[in-house]
Amino acid sequence: MSEHFIPLSVPNFSGREKEYVNDAVVSEWVSTGGSKVSEFEEKIAEYTGMPRAVACNSGTSGLHLALMAAGVGAGDEVLAPTLTFIAAVNPIRYVGARPVFIGCGQSLCLCPTLAEEWLAAHTERRDGACFNKRTGARVKALLVVHVFGNMADMQGLVALCEKYGLILIEDATEALGTRYTEGPYAGRMAGTIGDIGAYSFNGNKLITTGAGGMVVSNHPDWAEHAKHLSTQAKADELQFIHDEIGYNYRMTNLQAALGLAQLEQIEGFIAHKRAMYEFYRERLDGKNGFRILPFRAGVRSNHWFYSLYLEDARHRRDDVIAALREQQIQTRPVWALIHEQADYGACERYGTELAEDFRARIVNLPCSTNLTEADAQRVADALLAL
Ligand SMILES: *Cc1c(COP(=O)(O)O)cnc(C)c1O
Repeated sequence: MSEHFIPLSVPNFSGREKEYVNDAVVSEWVSTGGSKVSEFEEKIAEYTGMPRAVACNSGTSGLHLALMAAGVGAGDEVLAPTLTFIAAVNPIRYVGARPVFIGCGQSLCLCPTLAEEWLAAHTERRDGACFNKRTGARVKALLVVHVFGNMADMQGLVALCEKYGLILIEDATEALGTRYTEGPYAGRMAGTIGDIGAYSFNGNKLITTGAGGMVVSNHPDWAEHAKHLSTQAKADELQFIHDEIGYNYRMTNLQAALGLAQLEQIEGFIAHKRAMYEFYRERLDGKNGFRILPFRAGVRSNHWFYSLYLEDARHRRDDVIAALREQQIQTRPVWALIHEQADYGACERYGTELAEDFRARIVNLPCSTNLTEADAQRVADALLAL
């Protein structure tokens, strides 16, 4: 008897998706015009508690826009994580800047203590700016990723960026809905605490528009500039006057229609993700040489991805993944570290040991928003039998 396939993470269209997309088709507004894009922008702004949100066609383009709006440019250096998806880092190169890789803390996110150690040892302050003593380059920004929906240590990072005069950019592509419930940032969402942040609505993210992204910023002029850059920097609609080099990074009305229906369900998705995370945790944490990694305390995480940590060295990551695959269960390792990727080997890096350990020992478990308890039990049983 072959059992059905349990995917890692698939979209869930059980709301008004078809109705809203149909509205867009019937109205014939299927491209970048139409009311749904601005409606979706307003709804995301409201959800994240920001004055303005700027839609774009992917999380990657959102991060590219964020870096450009922040004024990060050719020759600058940007502190960035090595434990992340490469789309967090490639936009640094798109603008002609260079990443300096900093390791993570227990949260999986870039660690402010490690960043400070590197900054203290390798940079000097001149005229309020921070320079790499070896390369002479300006260290302009720090880009943090809220990995798997876990909140980075934003108190530590904000203080550090203030101290060193760095712009703080948040890759919140995996963390829509993650927010502090305690402390000085209580109520504040991932993506809204630094200078500028980006979300993604790719197919595997918490909510999806097929492909899409959104930029939010605490500098209203940066958000407007991101919008301008995403729309070919068109300064005059009638005469087609463009006042700088822009991009076609626009979201379509069809995508926004999907997004509006998805956003209506986001709190239910998060509640389900949290419940299934607890389900796995009760069955697997501390059992059979496994841990289920926690999310930060004092935070309501969106619980986007669950991390099984192979504490006992007898479990080898790729063998675990293969054994589950045999049973029609899809899991995956953490991304190959960015400093090990073809174009990033020569970059400076610091304190990456824990990231290397997580890379070697984490397996992400099925976490779709429609995952059933029966399927999660099958996953747990397969793991406990290893
Ligand atoms: C998904 C993701 C992105 C990119 O988003 P896309 O919408 O796929 O372009 C960037 N950074 C991280 C950490 C991601 O997980």
